[in-house]
Amino acid sequence: PGHLYVVATPIGNLGDLSPRALAVLGGVDAICAEDTRNSAALLSHFGLRKPLLALHDHNEEQVAAGLVGRLASGESLALVSDAGTPLVSDPGFRLVRAAREAGLPVVALPGPCAAIAALSVSGIASDRFLFVGFLPAKSGQRRAALEDLASEPATLLLYESSHRIAEAATDLAAVLGTRRVCIARELTKLFEQSEVMAAADLPGWIAADANRGKGEFVLVVEGAARREAVAGGADVARILRVLVRELG
Ligand code: SAM
Repeated sequence: PGHLYVVATPIGNLGDLSPRALAVLGGVDAICAEDTRNSAALLSHFGLRKPLLALHDHNEEQVAAGLVGRLASGESLALVSDAGTPLVSDPGFRLVRAAREAGLPVVALPGPCAAIAALSVSGIASDRFLFVGFLPAKSGQRRAALEDLASEPATLLLYESSHRIAEAATDLAAVLGTRRVCIARELTKLFEQSEVMAAADLPGWIAADANRGKGEFVLVVEGAARREAVAGGADVARILRVLVRELG
């Protein structure tokens, strides 16, 4: 059978496409892409032309079976997303799962990932982290999601777009204001910037310069201190349940 290669692509700087990724993209029969126009532009920059197959959240379930059939018949396929590592807040999970269920080889071509890049420059504890991805779009739900995460001891990795960064910063300041946060924007791009501050100061920092609200963002948020984690609501409830069970 053919191989399914899961290929990470640049999150800004095209120099981050690895030589091995380039060789694999040049060698496969077709490339599954989240946005075929976007990926066609990337390929043409590197002088490659390949058949592109659209694979996005709305059609992945339907097209996965056909793609698995192509792999089984000996075609090799690459999977890319618009930027960074496929499956990380991007499509691909259903295809990879279907390929594995069919017993087909799935090979990783590792490379850029915005969350990991931000973590690596944040100076915030990196021994344990929780990838959260995008928070809910509505403020009420976003605050509730942050409250659910308040007792989590691991460092939190959040994605945000320019549309919501200011609102998300306001909610983060309200719910987790004392935590340290690293805001990383436009990583690997011309206006790359990363700053560490208390979450309470984040809305003011963004508002101080119109450019700071533009681009693509990762927020790296310090986890709950162990003490806080134990005293946090969710854990108190769990401890009480255990005590009640033991006593009863
Ligand atoms: N699969 C990608 C990865 O591996 O990072 C993430 C895709 S997700 C749909 C897009 C989000 O990733 C953006 O809204 C932003 O939060 C983050 N992101 C992507 N590129 C970035 C960059 N150059 N700098 C900061 N954040 C970035």
